[in-house]
Amino acid sequence: MYPVSFIFITILHKLSFPWSDADSIPDDDVSTISQSLDLQGTIESCGIMGLAGKDFGGIYTVKPLGLIKPSGTEDIARVIKAASRTSHLTVAARGNGHSINGQAMADGGLVIDMRSTEENHFKLLTIDGSPYIDVSGGALWEDVLKRCVSMFRLAPRSWTDYLSLTVGGTLSNAGVSGQTFRYGPQTSNVTELEVVTGKGEIIVCSETQNSELFFGALGGLGQFGIITRARVKLQPAPDMVRRIRIVYSEFEEFTRDSEFLVTREEGASFDYVEGFVLSNSDDPINGWPSVTLDPDHEFNPAHIPQTAGSVLYCLEVALHYSHSDHASTVDAAVNGLLERLGFIRRLKFQVNVSYLEFLLRVKQVEEHARANGIWDSPHPWLNIFVSKSSIVEFDRTVFRKMLKDGVGGPMLIYPLLRSKWDERTSVVLPEGEIFYIVALLRFVPQGPSVEKLVAQNHEIVKWCNKEGLDFKLYLPHYQSNEDWKRHFRNHWSRFVERKFSFDPMAILAPGQRIFKRTHVNLN
Ligand code: FAD
Repeated sequence: MYPVSFIFITILHKLSFPWSDADSIPDDDVSTISQSLDLQGTIESCGIMGLAGKDFGGIYTVKPLGLIKPSGTEDIARVIKAASRTSHLTVAARGNGHSINGQAMADGGLVIDMRSTEENHFKLLTIDGSPYIDVSGGALWEDVLKRCVSMFRLAPRSWTDYLSLTVGGTLSNAGVSGQTFRYGPQTSNVTELEVVTGKGEIIVCSETQNSELFFGALGGLGQFGIITRARVKLQPAPDMVRRIRIVYSEFEEFTRDSEFLVTREEGASFDYVEGFVLSNSDDPINGWPSVTLDPDHEFNPAHIPQTAGSVLYCLEVALHYSHSDHASTVDAAVNGLLERLGFIRRLKFQVNVSYLEFLLRVKQVEEHARANGIWDSPHPWLNIFVSKSSIVEFDRTVFRKMLKDGVGGPMLIYPLLRSKWDERTSVVLPEGEIFYIVALLRFVPQGPSVEKLVAQNHEIVKWCNKEGLDFKLYLPHYQSNEDWKRHFRNHWSRFVERKFSFDPMAILAPGQRIFKRTHVNLN
């Protein structure tokens, strides 16, 4: 045993350096590693343009040593143990590679394609009368949804907007969408995980069993282990959804109404609350046309008040209902809520869609973007949690001035409640009960503009720091150790202790650039 003070100083020296490419050793050879691994699955060498060397962000490319397609948890444990016997090899779990800044990459290291394990777990359980599903860490949420609904008429409660993301990938961050105000993020909706730690141990963990690993892995940016199975809470799946968009010219009214809706009891509000900012213009992507939900809808700008500024605000809400509900019942429930809100009365749009169609709505956006060639182009996205106390100032400067012409894609903004998040997880949040997620989902063609947009993201974050705004990056990405410390602030020592306990050689998730690989195992 080492004294805590020694451990701390040693960890900080050995692990807390900025990440560096210099660690990869060029003469590593996939066939040698392959022989030593004795995998059930496969390993292949990678080029810079291969799956494992790039991600959805399209900003970074690296050359990993090998891409492993494990057959299951044992394979993953073997890979990590083999890496731990070297002085330098790192291991990155790759969910669906939908990170923006290379978080699922391993330069010169081994990338584990979690999708190859997606079929390994799918089991319905009833615990104390409530339904749960055990799913693979590498499963896509869209498949979990489709299978749960078609087989059991059940569905998870908390989602992301887009579902071609893996269970392990979103649980390593948080997993946020329009249901989060009610059920918390996806990290609040799992009760058990199976994790392979950075020591190659396979551990089942929960709130009561190996709880430090359970809470560490949730929102842990892949730093403490690879999630191979998750137990997810389920609820009865609704049949249908009334999806509604209403428009505001005043930010104060938009925030007052969205906060009103997210703080009401279940049954006295909508089932989904999101929002976005749009440019007050006829721009087809950034302006008025982005609001309508159906080709038959017409956005008539004559209804916008003269007092409106450079941007408008759209609140998107949804109400679940069943096939047996009469249309008038749904209308009454919707109108009863809408009449309490202060939106521009003539700018209201609504459609009825099936529950699956609603949850898979971004898939249609993907198909459209693929057809236009902008799905595979770079995405310099920025996601921030901004506290209620800072959101007016953020709107005034960032939305109304810096981004008044839009970002070539959605600029999401909607409130979340801190009390629905578990403070024991690794996620860090701004202060105060109400905070907003702001997501700048930029779609840009390849070219020099990408650097400019990355620079604009930096400028926004710099401005938030300079003005002393209460905020945290979501899906964080930093270059320096000082930035990571500032991000975690008083939770930094807990994060480092967890790293020390579960991945003492800093083998895992090197693309997050938090800890430097070390060959000294202090345990
Ligand atoms: P990857 O990008 O492959 O991995 C992310 C990180 O997790 C990496 O560090 C990786 O090493 C680690 N990791 C991956 N799998 C595991 C595992 N099994 N165990 C441990 N660590 C693992 N997020 C939201 O919260 N809400 C949204 O509405 C939302 N919408 C999105 C829409 C689009 C179009 C895109 C591209 C992203 C969106 N995201 C959203 C962000 C998304 O949650 C992150 O990109 C997340 O990383 C999940 O993606 P992934 O499964 O591809 O994981």
